[in-house]
Amino acid sequence: MGKSPTLEFDSKWDLSPAPESTGHINLKDQYDLFIGGKWVKPSSKKYFDTINPATEKVIAKVAEANEKDVNRAVQSARKAYNEVWSKLSAGERGKYIYRIARLIQERAREFSVIETMDGGKVIRESRDVDVPLAAAHFFYYAGWADKLKYAFPNRNPQPLGVAGQIIPWNFPLLMAAWKIAPALATGNTVVIKSAETTPLTLYKLAEVIESAGLPPGVVNIVSGAGETGAAIVNHRDVNKIAFTGSTGVGKIIQRAVVGTNKKTTLELGGKAANIVFEDAPLDQAVEGIINGIYFNQGHVCCAGSRLFIQESVKDIVLRKLQDRMESLIVGDPMDKNTDIGAINSKEQLGIIKKYIEVGKKEGATMYQNTCDLPKKGYWCRPTLFTNVSQSSRIVQEEIFGPVLAVQTFRTIDEVISKANNSPYGLSAGVWTDKGSKIFNLTSQMKAGIVWANSYNKFDPTSPFGGYKESGFGREGGLHGLKPYLNL
Ligand code: ADP
Repeated sequence: MGKSPTLEFDSKWDLSPAPESTGHINLKDQYDLFIGGKWVKPSSKKYFDTINPATEKVIAKVAEANEKDVNRAVQSARKAYNEVWSKLSAGERGKYIYRIARLIQERAREFSVIETMDGGKVIRESRDVDVPLAAAHFFYYAGWADKLKYAFPNRNPQPLGVAGQIIPWNFPLLMAAWKIAPALATGNTVVIKSAETTPLTLYKLAEVIESAGLPPGVVNIVSGAGETGAAIVNHRDVNKIAFTGSTGVGKIIQRAVVGTNKKTTLELGGKAANIVFEDAPLDQAVEGIINGIYFNQGHVCCAGSRLFIQESVKDIVLRKLQDRMESLIVGDPMDKNTDIGAINSKEQLGIIKKYIEVGKKEGATMYQNTCDLPKKGYWCRPTLFTNVSQSSRIVQEEIFGPVLAVQTFRTIDEVISKANNSPYGLSAGVWTDKGSKIFNLTSQMKAGIVWANSYNKFDPTSPFGGYKESGFGREGGLHGLKPYLNL
């Protein structure tokens, strides 16, 4: 395909730097574990570096929790459950959750900057999406705390006890909110582990939890890698596992909980179809495609990584898409003009590059934007592949990077069967002028969420979760309460 021959607008704006200030950020050099309301040294005595993927500089050292530490965290969660949290009235529980929500709002700027420093995502995303949505989840579930009887009429909703929660690196604070808020609202206590590359906003949340006066042990925060996660999953006194991450680890967790009475929700990978019909508003669709796969570096499990264009508009959509791709700014995530920030880690960049090579070897045609990349840090240009087939690995496998595979279709039945031909079923998008087409398509798509004429829109009232290898259970909304309750 090569470079776009007819740019519709001058794509290289000469913008002055617009960096978000980092002066107000208060970070320690070293973070210990947050257990029983105290900052506790890890019994492993080990600390690992968390780095800024845009600069490769170490931001802080973070404690690595071993089995003993996890045990300590679970014991403290159990004690808090038995002695305090299960005895509080639901209304009182709700007040604490509201307080956490308000404190996140108050410290929103600090949270956004740290999320961007630690994870590489652009400040626009962390400021406008991650942090406000995290606060919104606490507000939303705070409201449910004393209304569980109305949520489940004629049932007797009871908490499960101690919830073990494991989160990934793509939305650290938001995933913590998705998990902690419903757990607390339903009367459970929590042991939560951050992902290895993005522990900092969770420890900032620990500071918020301290300020909110939450009784010690109700939320315990640990950090570490897979072994730490496994220690939570395998702990006998944990009643519920909530996991968001890769399908591979999801399968390990599912095997580990078989035969136990742990309730489990798994939110795993995805390979979403974004479908553009000829009657769609094409400019909006192109924005939706860009938003779906390139913003947030494609580090989104529901990223629209498979694009299906109706054949009659293929050329025009591809041209508009390339033009828009060419205008994207890749670079300093702290700059408010940047569209695509740093890839989260060297390891993840390696995975994405490997898939780009796979795409080329499979005979697909590649187009990448031509912008300059910073010298230090982990970067990937927005990438698009055409001439792919249903069986191509870049069409079937989750890449978790800014890489889009484009296919075409003629009829609605054809695109539904192509879109559903995936081991995953987390999300999808459809762009069309016709409501009837939307209803026809959404009812037949095997995807937990389908966006119509929009993409990646989130709201705490709306449930989220997958089909097939994208996992099971729902988070968000009324549905998100159920996995934390015995009814
Ligand atoms: P990703 O590809 O998004 O990093 P992973 O599934 O590897 O997804 O990681 C998601 C979370 O699961 C991280 O917090 C990681 O530390 C944790 N994890 C990794 N291996 C295991 C395991 N065997 N048991 C429990 N948690 C794990």
